[in-house]
Amino acid sequence: MQQHYENFTRGYDQHERYVNAWRRIRDRHLVGSPLCEMCKERERYVRSTLVHHIRSLADGGTYDESNLMSLSISCHEQIHQRKKPS
Ligand SMILES: [Zn+2]
Repeated sequence: MQQHYENFTRGYDQHERYVNAWRRIRDRHLVGSPLCEMCKERERYVRSTLVHHIRSLADGGTYDESNLMSLSISCHEQIHQRKKPS
């Protein structure tokens, strides 16, 4: 019984660690790049609220700074809409 419990909590901790690690990376990126990078190109200064993976994780992208981009919610939606096959 004790063993089962330990296995369960260990699995949970691993997930928590992963979530916390990503949150830290994301927060650090937002601090370093507080303005939406897409808006900035159009000389609009909008606070970024999320961090986008330029190359998606499913596509082999990483959590490296060079693969991250600060975006406003509307720009992030635009990127994902553009990706959809028409
Ligand atoms: Zn934007």
